Amino acid sequence: WAKAAGKGRWALFDPARDDLEIARYALSAQMPAALEHGEFVVEYQPMVSLFEGTLVGVEALVRWRHPKLGRLQPGEFIPLAEETGLILRLGYAVLEEACEQAARWWPEPKPEGFISVNLAVRQVHDPALVTKVFDVLDRTGLDPARLQLEITESSIMGTDTEPIAALRELAARGIRIAIDDFGTGYSNLAYLRRLPVRELKIAGEFVTGLRATDAAGNPTDERILATLVSLAHTLGLTVTAEGVETTAQAERLRAIGCDAAQGWLYGRPGSAGAIGDLVGAGSGLA
Ligand code: C2E
Ligand code: MG
Ligand code: MG
Ligand code: MG
Repeated sequence: WAKAAGKGRWALFDPARDDLEIARYALSAQMPAALEHGEFVVEYQPMVSLFEGTLVGVEALVRWRHPKLGRLQPGEFIPLAEETGLILRLGYAVLEEACEQAARWWPEPKPEGFISVNLAVRQVHDPALVTKVFDVLDRTGLDPARLQLEITESSIMGTDTEPIAALRELAARGIRIAIDDFGTGYSNLAYLRRLPVRELKIAGEFVTGLRATDAAGNPTDERILATLVSLAHTLGLTVTAEGVETTAQAERLRAIGCDAAQGWLYGRPGSAGAIGDLVGAGSGLA
C-alpha cells in the first residue's frame, strides 16, 4: 500500500527511517533476554572535590554489551526501555549491582563516599519505588547515607504528589537526592526548595563554554552559573559539574565556587576494578 499513499507521503517510506524503526523494534524485543543473560553492565565514573581533590562519590552508568552490535551507550537503549517499561527491571537491576559494589568499596564508615544511581522517570513514578530501594539496601547492607539517587527535574515537575512523598521517605532514611542535568529543564530553584534535594548536577553543556565575559565584555554562562551556585549554596545544596574535560574548565568552576566535578579530566566511566584504586578500599573485587 506504499504506492496508494501517494507521492506526497514519500517521507513516510524513507528506507533509512524504516530501517531505524525496525532496528529500534528489534532492540526493544531483545532487551528482556539480554537482561536475563547479563548483557547489561554497570560502569563507574568518579566525582571529585574541586577543593580537596578527593573522591566524593561515584556515578553508576549502564551499558549494553550486545553480542552482535557491540557496546551500546545508554542513549541508544534507555529511551526504548522507558517506552516498553523494561526500564523498571533494568533500573532496579542497576541499582542492586551498584549498591552491592558500593558495599564492597566502603565496608567501613570511613573514607567518605557514595554511589550515585540514575532513576528513570518511570521509577520516580513507580508506587513501589520506596519499597524496592529499601529492599536493595537491606539485601546489600549498604548504609543509606552512601546512596544518592539522581532524578531529572522534569520527572517531578508534574502534578502528582506521590513522587514527592516517595522522595521524602527516601530522604528521611538518609538517602541523598540529586537533580541531574540541572539547567536543561525548568531550573526552578524555588520549587526545588520544597523537595528533599541535597545536590544539583550541572549539565555538561554549561561547562563547555565557560568564560567570564564574551568578546564584547558581556556576562556569559559563567556569570549565570556563578549566581546559580551561590543560590544553591544559600539553599544548602551542593553543586557538582558534569562533563568537565579540561583543567581550564575545572579552574573556572573552582572560581565560581562549584563544589565537585565529574568528567573525562578525572576519569572516564570504567569497570569497578578501575575505580577501586581511587576509592581507596583496596578490595580488589570485581
Ligand atoms: P547522565 O546521568 O547525565 O550521565 C552523564 C553522562 O555524561 C554519561 O553519559 C557520561 O558518560 C557522560 N560524560 C561523563 N564525563 C564526560 C565528559 O567529560 N565529557 C562528555 N562529553 N561526556 C561525559 P552516558 O554514560 O552515555 O549516559 C547518558 C545518560 O543515560 C545519563 O546521563 C543518564 O541520564 C542515562 N543513564 C545512564 N545509566 C542509566 C541508568 O542506569 N538508568 C537510567 N534511568 N538512566 C541511565
Ligand atoms: Mg546522572
Ligand atoms: Mg547529567
Ligand atoms: Mg542525562
